[in-house]
Amino acid sequence: MYLKRLDIIGFKSFADRIGVDFVPGVTAVVGPNGSGKSNITDAIRWVLGEQSAKSLRGSKMEDIIFAGSDTRKALNFAEVSLTLDNEEQGLAIDYNEVSVTRRVSRSGDSDFFINKQPCRLKDIVDLFMDSGLGKEAFSIISQGKVEEILNSKAEDRRTIFEEAAGVLKYKNRKRQAEGK
Ligand code: ATP
Ligand code: MG
Repeated sequence: MYLKRLDIIGFKSFADRIGVDFVPGVTAVVGPNGSGKSNITDAIRWVLGEQSAKSLRGSKMEDIIFAGSDTRKALNFAEVSLTLDNEEQGLAIDYNEVSVTRRVSRSGDSDFFINKQPCRLKDIVDLFMDSGLGKEAFSIISQGKVEEILNSKAEDRRTIFEEAAGVLKYKNRKRQAEGK
């Protein structure tokens, strides 16, 4: 499983539609301070289901919608799509390519899609749970996260290892079955 493409429109500093094709191997995003490098990883975490505006470096979810600039009007919605190669079926879905899309409007409406079919946020979160890629998976480590891991309580640190080992899904199902 690997990232093939990211499409963004109206998310944070990206007013115009942009598409990033990832090639096999390492991709480095470089640019001056404030040019939008972290906004790209924010977009990836958001489409994977991030619900915390704070962790997306805003105070409310609306802050992720392009707020306008000296030369451009603010936009009314943000949309991000992430396309993954799934030939090796790392994601439990019978498609060789999987795209997930998330859209939010200023009025607060949210839409989610898997391969262009409307779905719930939970379906996206479940799809990526234990895949190694998820909004809180160890594959995305932001500035400050390393310190947070080192400073976290033993149980929280254990959760990180559980997701990495692939047992978190079963713990969550057990908790749901127990009605907790
Ligand atoms: P650094 O090298 O300092 O880490 P960076 O390339 O990671 O910088 P980002 O944090 O990705 O930069 O981008 C910050 C920029 O995004 C700021 O200029 C900020 O004004 C802009 N930005 C964030 N949210 C919005 C929004 N909703 N609308 C328009 N611009 C936004
Ligand atoms: Mg940054």
